[in-house]
Amino acid sequence: FNEIPTGYPEPGKTTVYDDSETIDLDTVPLNGGFLVKVLVLSVDPYLRGKMRDAKQKSYSPAFELGKPLYNFGVGVVVRSENPAVKPGDHLYGIFEFKHYVIASDPSQFRVLKDEGLPWSAYVGVAGMPGETAVYAWKEYAHAKKGETVFVTAGSGPVGATVIQLAKADGLKVIASAGSDDKVAFMREIGADVAFNYKTVDTRKILEKEGPINVFWDNVGGETLEAALDAADRHARFIECGMISQYNTPTPYGVKNLMNIVAKELTIKGFIVGSIRHKYEDWFYSTWPKRVASGEIKYKEDRVRGLENAGKAIADVQSGRNFGKSVIIVADE
Ligand code: NDP
Repeated sequence: FNEIPTGYPEPGKTTVYDDSETIDLDTVPLNGGFLVKVLVLSVDPYLRGKMRDAKQKSYSPAFELGKPLYNFGVGVVVRSENPAVKPGDHLYGIFEFKHYVIASDPSQFRVLKDEGLPWSAYVGVAGMPGETAVYAWKEYAHAKKGETVFVTAGSGPVGATVIQLAKADGLKVIASAGSDDKVAFMREIGADVAFNYKTVDTRKILEKEGPINVFWDNVGGETLEAALDAADRHARFIECGMISQYNTPTPYGVKNLMNIVAKELTIKGFIVGSIRHKYEDWFYSTWPKRVASGEIKYKEDRVRGLENAGKAIADVQSGRNFGKSVIIVADE
């Protein structure tokens, strides 16, 4: 992490790739720990929020300038001095953006079973973003058959999973994303009404297809404002993210908050880490199998090479990714 950005992060400026550090894999001291070869790293929207001045408090600590970025990833154990972890084990957890990492605490990682999924799926639909969709839908949607939901950023790992959960519960699904390819994908996975918010007026769609009973908010800003106007009485707003606000120093002022009172809306913000403990064991023992069987669909945007991490991070912020953005750091 090289420099705090004011707007969108810029590869080579906000983040730099540094390959000056080398280690000898056979002799590097492990001090009772284990050496992991990093295979996959996740690129998530929330990484932008960590690129801030550490003095500004938020739910996730700021990255430290001059230190490697870190995020969810999957790696394979190469050497181990801890009996709880064996060479060949695949670990899911937080890794520094490095090719090899020495770790000391096995409890910080989940040992993955081979369920027939690519390891990269465990940072997307079968990992944190999938958990986000599944847990918050369960906790906060209070969905009833025949109701209408509006899902934003519907082609990403969170939105695409929500579309499928909502369809399975018998809802009419309206979904938006920023390109025609993404729109086609959202239709393929079950959205009844899918549109490109860059070329079609969100308000017009919601007027025609609404009112909405559930709003899954991934973007905030003007879209949130449109959803407030299109909400039915007692609608539930699941405030998952506000990516339209992550890269702007001047936040959008939503003007119609009185709808919350007049329509008796429930607005629920959440952070997946706060509800994970309730569902985590169930999720990892059932969900990857459902994804592997093809029942749950997903799309991945694979970027090869750690040197391209900075570009991948910028691409997710501006919507140039199509599907879950993953960095393939190395093959096994
Ligand atoms: P995605 O893979 O969907 O990537 C983000 C997408 O947001 C982009 O591809 C882009 O798609 C869209 N986007 C970017 N800028 C804008 C904008 N100005 N207006 C509308 N859409 C925009 O991400 P995820 O599925 O991983 O995450 C989706 C949301 O969920 C994010 O807001 C994220 O922060 C949030 N999240 C929250 C968690 C929680 O615990 N609360 C946990 C995980 C994720 P497009 O082409 O459609 O514009």
